[in-house]
Formats: sequence, C-alpha cells, structure tokens
Amino acid sequence: MTETVLTLASIYRARRAIAPFVRRTPLVPALSLTSAKSEIHLKLETLQDIGSFKIRGAANRIASLTEAEKRSGVVAVSTGNHGRGVALAASRLGIEATVFMSTLVPEAKVRRIRDLGANVRIGGASQDEAEVEAEAFIRETGAVMIHPFDDPSVIAGQGTIGLELIEDLPEIDTAIVPLSGGGLIGGIALALKSVSRDIRVIGVSMERGPAMVLSQRAGKPVPVEEEKSLADSLGGGIGLANRYTFDLVKRHVDEMVLVSEEQIAAGMRHAFREEQLVLEGGAAVGIAAVISGVVPDPGKRCAIVLSGRNVDPDTFIEVVTGHGP
Ligand SMILES: *Cc1c(COP(=O)(O)O)cnc(C)c1O
Repeated sequence: MTETVLTLASIYRARRAIAPFVRRTPLVPALSLTSAKSEIHLKLETLQDIGSFKIRGAANRIASLTEAEKRSGVVAVSTGNHGRGVALAASRLGIEATVFMSTLVPEAKVRRIRDLGANVRIGGASQDEAEVEAEAFIRETGAVMIHPFDDPSVIAGQGTIGLELIEDLPEIDTAIVPLSGGGLIGGIALALKSVSRDIRVIGVSMERGPAMVLSQRAGKPVPVEEEKSLADSLGGGIGLANRYTFDLVKRHVDEMVLVSEEQIAAGMRHAFREEQLVLEGGAAVGIAAVISGVVPDPGKRCAIVLSGRNVDPDTFIEVVTGHGP
C-alpha cells in the first residue's frame, strides 16, 4: 500500500520493506572535523550499491506498488542518482523499469543506468521534453512514475537514515543534510524530530539555483533557473505543485544555508585529503558548510550526511588537485 500520511510509523514500515535491498551504512567519526566543542560524524551513504541514498526511497516506493502496478512496470525521468536508484530497486524486485532521458545526455550516463538492468528511452531535446515522452509512455502502458522526492513512500524511505542516526548516535543534537527537492532532509527531519524537537536539522544547498531555499523564502514553491554547478545532483526545481516536501521542510527544518562553488570544491578536497572519501559535489555541501564557517556551530554531537559518490572522474581529479573552482 502506498503511504498518504507520513509519520514515524511510515518510516519504520519503510525500514522493514527496504531491508533486503539497501545497506545499513556506517556512521564514522571524522577526526579532521572534530574539535573540543563539536564531535562530528559522517553518515556514509556513499557506500550504498548505487553510490547514493536514492536507493532507499526508490525501493520503498516500488515495494509498495500493488501487484497489478508491479506488472505494468515503473518509469523515472532522470540521468543521475534517482534513475540509478529506480533501476536497481526495480531489478532487485523483479520489476521492469524504463528510464527516460533527453538526447543531450552523455553516453556514459546512459550506460550506467542500462547496466543496472533498466530500459533507457532517449527522446526530447531537454529534460522537460523527456518528461512529456514519459507521460505518453505511461498513458500507453499503465506504468507508474516514481517521483524523485515529492512522494510519501520515497520520503519515508529516505527517512530510514534518520532512524540509523538515532541508533548509532543517541545523543545527536545536530544533523547537517544536503537539500534539493527535500525528500532526503524531509524524511530525516521527520524521524529526528519525532524523537526530540531539540535536535537541530540544517539543510545545505548550493548558491546556484537553490530551489527549496528560494521557495521557503517566498512562502510558496517558485521556479528556479538551472545553473551549472559542481553539486549537479542538487539541481532542479521542487515542483510548482509540490505536495509534501515544501511543508515538511517548513515544519521540521531549523536552518537552511547556501555554499558557493569554491566552498563545495573545498569540501570535496577536505573529504578526500583528510578522510580519504570520494564525494560528488552534492554530497560535499555539509562538510563545505562546516569548514567554511557557513555553519559556525555544528553542535556538540553532529552527523553530516554524505549523500553520494557519483562524480565524473575527470571533474573529481580537477577539483582535488586544486584546478577546479
Ligand atoms: C538527490 C540527491 C540529494 C538531494 O535529495 P533531495 O531529496 O532532492 O533533497 C543530495 N545528494 C545527492 C547525492 C543526491 O543524489
């Protein structure tokens, strides 16, 4: 059954549903970031099989389909982590997945999704046009669209990270989480705030096109212009007809901050040089916010969510050798 009301119980149900398909990732102390005042830990969602947390939400949504829906298959419009999450979750559940992409998408990205067992349909000159093609396919086949964030089952799946944080760091007082559409932070915040309203939840977006931050400031979902960023997995809007994540973020997220391209690059460099971790830009924003002082006080016991490792190798080398932004 698909969730319509989101509660802590939905997150516990998600945990049971996705356990066979998802790793329980470690939370490790980051000595390079820890000071006398702040003990900092890193949640390694980089260790999921697809290299990002998106498998959690996708697996929960797909596992909750009816038998008839499962026979019709699922659809995603994504070239990145969401597409990979849907592809792998569907394949592990024995369900057909079709991922739509525009003609602009590089061959390497197409292959990375095809290799996970999904059908790839290339069509349209932009992401929006690929979406139109996906809608037509859904009308023809009855397949189910899996949304990357604005869906209660997806949010509950991402929220299972919050349960793991509480178990591994019971005294947690601050969580720092990358923020784009808000499914990740919405689910985590719901879990943490159900335990204690006093746990601070801080979202970090990039300065280039921070859709949720601009929408919260405006008091309603607003469109953003897409800009190229090192944090490409944080790009995109929150949907003008946003149903869940706008309200979740408004209710449960205490602070939202922005980091620049230079700060993201510094976050990636720090993760690699000091913690031997390979992060994509979107996953480095939490470390970026702490080392730059954008979050001046990360609390006594803080967890930073490292959301993914899917970075283009040439970009990564440029950044960590100091030739990036
Ligand atoms: C999708 C994604 C995010 C943001 O998640 P939202 O639910 O859209 O806020 C952060 N980091 C990575 C690596 C992602 O793939």
